[in-house]
Amino acid sequence: MKILVLNCGSSSVKFQLFNTETEKPMAKGLVERIGTSTAKLRYQSMHDGRKIEKTIEILDHTVAIRRVLSTLQDKENGAITQPSEIDAVGHRVVHGGETFSESVLITQEVYNQIDICADLAPLHNPPNLKGISACQRLLPNSPQVAVFDTAFHQTMPKRAWIYAVPAILYKRHAIRRYGFHGTSHFYVSRRAAEIIGKDIEELKIITAHLGNGCSITAIKNGKSVDTSMGMTPLEGLVMGTRCGDIDPAVITHIMAMEELRLSEINAMMNKHSGLYALSGGLSNDMRELTEEAMEGNAAAQLAIDVFVYRLKKYIGAYAAAMGGLDALVFTGGIGENAANIRGKCCENMEFLGIRLDKKKNAVTRAIEARISEEGSPVQVLTVPTAEELVIALDTQGIVKKM
Ligand code: ADP
Repeated sequence: MKILVLNCGSSSVKFQLFNTETEKPMAKGLVERIGTSTAKLRYQSMHDGRKIEKTIEILDHTVAIRRVLSTLQDKENGAITQPSEIDAVGHRVVHGGETFSESVLITQEVYNQIDICADLAPLHNPPNLKGISACQRLLPNSPQVAVFDTAFHQTMPKRAWIYAVPAILYKRHAIRRYGFHGTSHFYVSRRAAEIIGKDIEELKIITAHLGNGCSITAIKNGKSVDTSMGMTPLEGLVMGTRCGDIDPAVITHIMAMEELRLSEINAMMNKHSGLYALSGGLSNDMRELTEEAMEGNAAAQLAIDVFVYRLKKYIGAYAAAMGGLDALVFTGGIGENAANIRGKCCENMEFLGIRLDKKKNAVTRAIEARISEEGSPVQVLTVPTAEELVIALDTQGIVKKM
């Protein structure tokens, strides 16, 4: 099957056209700056690697997706000759609330429910819905499937997802922990079990997805039992520009002292914090921070130290939550590439059974690898994530049952 996988943000659309037989993308790309007359469309054919880049006026998601479809049919570099070749569309949807614990075919009812969940993810679900509406118009004969970032974590026990705040807030506003990056944690945990050669049902795995957004998940017998992101992707680890865990009282205190509005405090915690803030505004990019730290920049070093320290605390916590640990898996741009971060994270962790092999850990490109010592009680792995592939395969599975 040919499945178009879409990830629609407020001003961007990421796309991949998947061939599910080969499990490889045929083409992929990105539209950025939607809503402007200088939007950028980038496209790459995976057949010959040829690229197309255009700067054009794209005022909404429908126009963006129409442009994507026409580029996919480009005479020289296209991957299809007509839109009807697209068997189905798989959408990454950020928040499925408690309604969705697995991927679903999008019906009017499902659309409405995603809209209801938008209260919990006001920045993410509305653009996801724009992408769905656009595809309903442009590809009326292709079924559409929603794959939720939150779904995998719906197996968390209540003690892990409930906040210690008045119960009425959960009843009235669905305030609880949901967790994100579920597709990635699901995929890399399954791959890790395959690489180790054991049934996922028998394993206690911690998966660390470290990209611009970062989250860590405890996976016991194949199920998510705890994860670091909460009601929103702000909780947990230190991230590129997000603060992660913070004393909640700090927020009201800063708002009072600095006379900040809600939108300003939100921007502060989501866009101006994390690695970026710790490094004194130097960068939110781990590569740059690593280079700067190596040249002796103390602020860059501090950012890295705090990032790693928080990560290590979560690894300890999740080993305790599961009553043991068999495997630790690194993924995401930092997890897959940054040997220095993996190395620091595993330092002095022998007491937990984590024994990293320094030579094997030296891999600095995204490949599947076992990087622990032979005989280490905890196997440490790097597994490149493949969220789009999971979305394509889930979509195929649902469409085949229709
Ligand atoms: P997103 O969450 O936006 O998908 P990625 O998973 O691509 O982001 O991760 C981006 C992060 O990965 C950035 O902090 C970037 O610096 C880091 N990264 C990518 N490649 C490397 C590398 N070779 N060494 C260190 N960090 C890297």
